[in-house]
Amino acid sequence: MSDTSNMDVFNHEAFSGHEQVVFCQDETTGLKAIIAIHSTALGPAAGGCRMWHYRDNGSALNDALRLSKGMSYKNAMAGLNLGGGKAVIIGDAKTDKSEELFRSFGRFVNGLGGQYITAEDVGISVSDMEVVSQKTPHVAGLNSGLAASGDPSPFTARGTFNGIRAAVKHQLGKDGVAGLTVAMQGLGHVGWHLCRELHAAGAKLIVADINEDAVQHAVKEFGATAVSCDEILFVDVDVVAPCALGAVLNETSIPKLKTKIVAGAANNQLAKDTDGMLLRDHNILYAPDYVINAGGIINVAAEIDGKYDRQWVDKKVAAIYDVLLDIFERADQEQGATSTISDLIAQEKIAEKIAKTSKAERSVLKKDIVA
Ligand code: NAD
Repeated sequence: MSDTSNMDVFNHEAFSGHEQVVFCQDETTGLKAIIAIHSTALGPAAGGCRMWHYRDNGSALNDALRLSKGMSYKNAMAGLNLGGGKAVIIGDAKTDKSEELFRSFGRFVNGLGGQYITAEDVGISVSDMEVVSQKTPHVAGLNSGLAASGDPSPFTARGTFNGIRAAVKHQLGKDGVAGLTVAMQGLGHVGWHLCRELHAAGAKLIVADINEDAVQHAVKEFGATAVSCDEILFVDVDVVAPCALGAVLNETSIPKLKTKIVAGAANNQLAKDTDGMLLRDHNILYAPDYVINAGGIINVAAEIDGKYDRQWVDKKVAAIYDVLLDIFERADQEQGATSTISDLIAQEKIAEKIAKTSKAERSVLKKDIVA
């Protein structure tokens, strides 16, 4: 698609009743960013900021629109009083960063008056967000400050572990993962913590990563079996846990899977929406990615709340187990894809809130959260 045709925001294929799309430019610092607020029905729109060297401006807009809608669904399914938003900064995270650029971004976020709360995503570090925080309080994922929540990865991993247990219960009728084999694609921040949880619970691990050191470390630490990155999705296991890349579940890979369950932390695992049904047709239970990987945003939400409460976080992360069981049961009843059912439940939650809450009440809700 050409760059210009793709910039017709209201008719854009990824535009989904978004409330606000802000195009930010600061010629002095070189900042070019798009902030997309999909919904504030459940609270201020929260979602990370991504810095990426986009092919063209249209690709950046597409990413911002898709990701912000995803955040609305993710936050709704995690039971958070947060709406969905996302920011993208157009640029190369390796060469185009400067403190001035992030201060400028912070000013734009601040101009939205708390309607959008930013945090880290691909290409953005904690130190970048610390600079953003010089210009706005509407930022989370910081290392310092009274409610700082730190690295979200261990919480994402714990939520994913709970989600794997739910999938095992539903699909295999077993409590726990002891004696089961899990194939781990990716041993990064989340993957490593997830390996630790699974190993402690008695699962056997098969692992792959393009980083050979991480693989050797997992072999040594967890007695894992290493296979190549080309093989990892297709080994004969109880659970495949994608924890690296998006779009790994597609019409080429799905027919070759030997697992009965796909449950991992990676974002956007389905190449296309229809791949959810393809998984069902192959009798493979899929844990929707934005539900199972919500542990990190739950932890960030506690920071946004301004009084980080570890017990509240643990309870919400534990609830991912029940949320997924509900999705699996409803998908069976309706003979639908778990991914579609999850989208429907999220849409219902948002619509219900819009129907119940007047605009005036919604601004009070926002004040409560960001106070
Ligand atoms: P990370 O960059 O720390 O880890 C990714 C790992 O995948 C790296 O070790 C990398 O070497 C490996 N990898 C890359 N290509 C691979 C390939 N072809 N085969 C096998 N391994 C490969 O990232 P992370 O923070 O651990 O996140 C992992 C996934 O989970 C991402 O999709 C991310 O968007 C998603 N996620 C992360 C969080 C979080 O809290 N960090 C929250 C929600 C979702």
